[in-house]
Amino acid sequence: MTEKPLTVKIPIVMTIAGSDSGGGAGIAADLKTFAALGVHGTCAITSITAQNTTGVLEAFDLTPAAVASQIEAVCADMDVKWAKTGMLASSEIVREVAKDVRKHGLSLVIDPVMAAEAGGDLLRKEAISVLIEELLPFCKVITPNASEAGVLAGIEVKTPKDAKIAARKIAGLGVETVIVTGGHLDATDLLYEAVSDTFTRIPGTFVKGGTHGSGCTYSAAMTAFLACGKSMEVAARESKKFVVEAILKSLPAGRGVNPVNPLG
Ligand code: PLP
Repeated sequence: MTEKPLTVKIPIVMTIAGSDSGGGAGIAADLKTFAALGVHGTCAITSITAQNTTGVLEAFDLTPAAVASQIEAVCADMDVKWAKTGMLASSEIVREVAKDVRKHGLSLVIDPVMAAEAGGDLLRKEAISVLIEELLPFCKVITPNASEAGVLAGIEVKTPKDAKIAARKIAGLGVETVIVTGGHLDATDLLYEAVSDTFTRIPGTFVKGGTHGSGCTYSAAMTAFLACGKSMEVAARESKKFVVEAILKSLPAGRGVNPVNPLG
């Protein structure tokens, strides 16, 4: 007897990001998070990093054509509505992803990954302006940490007040929703929604544990919750809780910054 096809649809999401050979950040963190939150995760790899908990040793960027081909293969067959970007490596890849996101009508979460916590550039300096001009206007939400928010806004972000100024400046670049994650300030995330010009504080507490992959895990959780139909504020609160748990359950895997554990 042939099995009936499953009729209950689960959301299908995509991560467009780099791989981390240490299994902590990038695609590995994203797919673990998607699995833990009950959505089907697909991926387009932008760069292959040779990396462990002590840092990025080398990165091998894929060609824009290789990135486009992965996105095309998935979107030609599966109904992907929400996607996230992580490490985009180069101007050429940023440009290609901006084209593909529009072509496939993807609702986008941008995690503006610039450097690895343990060291190593993940986005070339010259690609930052391309990210701002060509990709930011096409996203629904961007999730910078304090230093990434500072680079995007062109100011130093050292206090929660600076985070507010930066969030408004980033929204001014054409982004509907900005979440400045607070892991490096006061553990509180700041959600700014430009349409209503409102700030919502999403409180948290500093917890002990490995944080490698925490930004990836947070933005992947946002993507999953939004794909499941949650509002921006609920998704932000749930993602915060999820990443705190993942840090608490982090694994003592290596000698450097240990990876979060989204499957904990
Ligand atoms: N993407 C890749 C491929 C990485 O290697 C890293 C960090 O090493 C990141 C993203 C960013 O990681 P985090 O979530 O710790 O900011």
